Amino acid sequence: MSVANPYHITIAGAGLNGLALAFALKKALGDNIRLTLADPALDRDASRDKRSFAVTPSSRRMFETLGVWDDEILQTEAVADMVITDSRVEDPVRPSLLTFAEGNLQGEPLAYMVESAALTKLLLQACKTCNIDFSASAIQRFTPTGNGVEIEMEGRKPFTSNLLVAADGKRSRLRELANIGWISWPYNQSGIVGTITHSRDHEGKAYEHFLPSGPFAILPLAPGGTLGYRSSIVWTETTETADYLMEFGEKQQLAEVEKRFGPTLGTIALETSLQSFPLTFGIARSFISDRLALLGDAAHAIHPIAGQGLNLGLEDVAALAEIIVDAVRIGLDPGTYNQLELYENARRFDVTAKGLAMDGLNRLFSNDLTPVRLIRDFGLGLVNRLPELKRFFVDQAVGGTTVSAPRLFKGEEL
Ligand SMILES: Cc1cc2nc3c(=O)[nH]c(=O)nc-3n(C[C@H](O)[C@H](O)[C@H](O)COP(=O)(O)OP(=O)(O)OC[C@H]3O[C@@H](n4cnc5c(N)ncnc54)[C@H](O)[C@@H]3O)c2cc1C
Repeated sequence: MSVANPYHITIAGAGLNGLALAFALKKALGDNIRLTLADPALDRDASRDKRSFAVTPSSRRMFETLGVWDDEILQTEAVADMVITDSRVEDPVRPSLLTFAEGNLQGEPLAYMVESAALTKLLLQACKTCNIDFSASAIQRFTPTGNGVEIEMEGRKPFTSNLLVAADGKRSRLRELANIGWISWPYNQSGIVGTITHSRDHEGKAYEHFLPSGPFAILPLAPGGTLGYRSSIVWTETTETADYLMEFGEKQQLAEVEKRFGPTLGTIALETSLQSFPLTFGIARSFISDRLALLGDAAHAIHPIAGQGLNLGLEDVAALAEIIVDAVRIGLDPGTYNQLELYENARRFDVTAKGLAMDGLNRLFSNDLTPVRLIRDFGLGLVNRLPELKRFFVDQAVGGTTVSAPRLFKGEEL
């Protein structure tokens, strides 16, 4: 297809995955593609999200290759080591069962911590420099028409695209409209997040304390805050307890955080308010349908126990962008079933395997039965003593350097 009449792609959802896909496509294809990016919350204040994400080296490689990663602007912090303990809230000492200081085979850090707000702002800014048709409204209906898909949204005449990408989050309306099944179960757990400032340097160490109600993770952020250093927490509690804690005043919340945080990082204070996210597992029965591709949380929602949800979505972005760009460059319509099938084959198995692994980890560790604790502590101790096995786990988590990984995840241009 020529520049005079380029293929048209519409992306529903300007979360991190939708923004990353929009930018990757525009960077590679320029005006050889027409792009509409629709989201009713397009103009929201990104700093309302108090989460910070552990971005794997592969996802970082993708952002660097796209030219949208700046350590100074993003105030990133490398996670050099991770210490895992299995304890109860009242335990005075938490001996470490497993550490990961060795890194992966490439000697890269385990992850880079970045605040959600900073990454969202940077990506949105980058998208605004491209010729993208932004629409601050929700996609309400769509109808495949054979050669394309007719899209309806509020305040705009219906229009036709070659492909519609649903990056509209885990409660995806588009997935529902396409009648794609959603295999899901609730965890009856919520993830409480927030930024903590503390008086001692974390030295790039992350801590994951496995407490009876679920993991309590402390993840290192760039220095700053009123006490000199900062970390992000992801604190898993039963939803009932989390809702109760959200009603507490700041002083009481801090006292509860202190009990779980432990004394290692000195005096602590809350730098942001705490925010709670209900957790569920979900995976779409198919990642594609007629002229539609699901991406990110719209295709899969997993437990944040190992900080993999966004990274899985970014791998979807890298895979789908590659398939679309390769098709358009040789004049093929990127929305045909043959193209979409390539995407489904590239992603569904990997996502299902990782999602179920996170589910299993959460079940194993959100448990206070003595025999279960003994077995898992034995298992962790064993992994800690076998460097090869440990590297295997780290490589699985860091991922992306295998031959089959999408090009952007290997640091190659599209
Ligand atoms: C507590 C917690 C901690 C986490 N920590 C990590 C971590 O450390 N590392 C990691 O990799 N992952 C982590 N995750 C997972 C990560 O947050 C998600 O996987 C990721 O944010 C999903 O992004 P998304 O763009 O797919 O969806 P979303 O961010 O949900 O964006 C969806 C967008 O679609 C828009 N939308 C909705 N309906 C429509 C419509 N009809 N039309 C158009 N637009 C629509 C919405 O307004 C929204 O902006 C964590 C998750 C939680 C809950």
